[in-house]
Amino acid sequence: MTLPGPQSAALPAARGRTLTKVFGEGDTRVVALDRVDVDFDRGRFTAIMGPSGSGKSTLMHCMAGLDSVTEGQAFIGDVDLSSLDDKALTVLRRDRIGFVFQAFNLLPTLTALENITLPMDIAGRKPDQAWLDQVIDTVGLRDRLAHRPTELSGGQQQRVACARALAGRPDIVFADEPTGNLDSRSGADVLDFLRSSVRRMDQTVVMVTHDPKAAGYADRVLFLADGRIVDEMAEPTAERVLERLKAFDPAED
Ligand code: ADP
Ligand code: MG
Repeated sequence: MTLPGPQSAALPAARGRTLTKVFGEGDTRVVALDRVDVDFDRGRFTAIMGPSGSGKSTLMHCMAGLDSVTEGQAFIGDVDLSSLDDKALTVLRRDRIGFVFQAFNLLPTLTALENITLPMDIAGRKPDQAWLDQVIDTVGLRDRLAHRPTELSGGQQQRVACARALAGRPDIVFADEPTGNLDSRSGADVLDFLRSSVRRMDQTVVMVTHDPKAAGYADRVLFLADGRIVDEMAEPTAERVLERLKAFDPAED
């Protein structure tokens, strides 16, 4: 008999347990995350929504080890991030977590392909060529790989940033408002790519968004308010998400 190992497929890609993050103290004390329990199952696309200041970015940063937690644990697979020293955390972040920011953060002097493989080049890791080919096929930028960021549209730049996040075949990709700077057409291309990476490549993606249309690409939406998950929607559509937001804040249109 074989017991499920640490990389058991049944284990969520990432988990938060009583995740709590407090900023400041005294008059400036802010509880940004308040005992959040959350699972991110493998091969699923989760959207996170909530008002400005509700803790969406803090949740992503704590889950991705970009920020320490005040209490509770963030796990990537079976690894509790708070058990790692700085060096081990850096390696885990590099090899097992992808992160996409609202600003594309590409290096202007490098080509698209060089940007995509940069994290692996720095780490001295050889890319899995078959995986990389699949990422590039899915992102649909074959004819743009030799271009520099200034020669690409915003949507193309963000797709390069997403491809970079995926290139090392991470356990999970976190994207914080990846379509926030894009028009709806370019945004749709980025969302198509993220969803395809989940469907075709079994990636696990977590995305913060304000846009009900973007949330409609996900398998599940988590709604945050005041540092807590207050509601959840399975198999969302843009229409149902919009209805849900209106019900909670009738002033929103
Ligand atoms: P969201 O992404 O949902 O807009 P954030 O996670 O950025 O919200 O912020 C949640 C709360 O934590 C807010 O009240 C914010 O002001 C506070 N906060 C976030 N980052 C910091 C920080 N570095 N220092 C102090 N307070 C912060
Ligand atoms: Mg934010």
